[in-house]
Amino acid sequence: MRRNKAFVLGQPVGHSRSPMLHGYWLKKEGIDGSYERREVAPVDLDAFFAHFRDSGWVGGNVTVPHKTAVIPYLDRIDADAEAMGAVNTVYWEGDKLIGGNSDAIGFLGNIDELVPGWDRNAKRAVILGAGGATRAAAYGLLSRGLEVAICNRTLDKAKALAKHFGQGATAHPWDDYRALIADCDVLVNCTSLGMLNQPPLDVDLSNLKPGAVVYDVIYVPLETEFLKAAKARGHKTVDGLGMLLHQGVKGFSRWFEKTPEVTPELRQLLVDDIRAKTPGA
Ligand code: NAP
Repeated sequence: MRRNKAFVLGQPVGHSRSPMLHGYWLKKEGIDGSYERREVAPVDLDAFFAHFRDSGWVGGNVTVPHKTAVIPYLDRIDADAEAMGAVNTVYWEGDKLIGGNSDAIGFLGNIDELVPGWDRNAKRAVILGAGGATRAAAYGLLSRGLEVAICNRTLDKAKALAKHFGQGATAHPWDDYRALIADCDVLVNCTSLGMLNQPPLDVDLSNLKPGAVVYDVIYVPLETEFLKAAKARGHKTVDGLGMLLHQGVKGFSRWFEKTPEVTPELRQLLVDDIRAKTPGA
């Protein structure tokens, strides 16, 4: 069976920019393949994986709400997926179906590109939120040797993540961020606040350490109110679009055996699409 098509599996997936991203790379690399949306409800996951081996899939991306639900359908998960406790990429290794996770690579690739050398003397990070994006950000930041303080509205979720990651990770109630940011080198928004159709992230940055890098994983809108406020205070800022672009590299190279590039042209393609579809973005 010839395999040449990849998917993004989730619910909803209509808004996903991954088809545009991988479609660009397929064309650029001259590969005869496709990248397709598959909107699948949790109750239909069984059916999606039932004939997977004969379906022509080279693999694909997995997004909300299936990032852990897919694990039973795979032969194994790799070390990255194990460490983050979630799968965002499915790929073949011989005849074995593997679950990986490239979100931390995306998180780091983005900040490495936009603020080169950011981690040279960085010791501490504060992450707001304790969901899926926090798993990627925390894993990435810990891998670069930073201590990571996780502040979340639901403290138990922050505690569970800190326990999962172990040494270097701590959990805190939401309001502790005010004191913690006085001595942090990177502040990251991993909540869904500030995203299109969500309330804004309302945080007080007056205590933020001068020189701290401020990162928002959200990319619709491209510049959130949180990033605007940080920029106005003179902080270097990182938006979430590059995280999406950089996480895609690993999957594409596994599926199509070519390592694609994140170029200014590609970024502009997605920026134009976001701006066209999001007034004010
Ligand atoms: P998630 O697992 O649902 O987690 C959402 C987080 O936001 C939780 O910590 C939640 O707190 C917090 N939150 C929601 N409403 C809140 C409120 N009113 N006050 C305080 N905290 C609130 O979501 P996720 O998958 O981590 O995604 C989070 C964001 O990251 C989304 O906007 C997503 O689009 C973005 N993202 C971007 C990329 C990228 O490539 N750039 C990748 C992944 C995700 P509780 O625990 O208290 O509910």
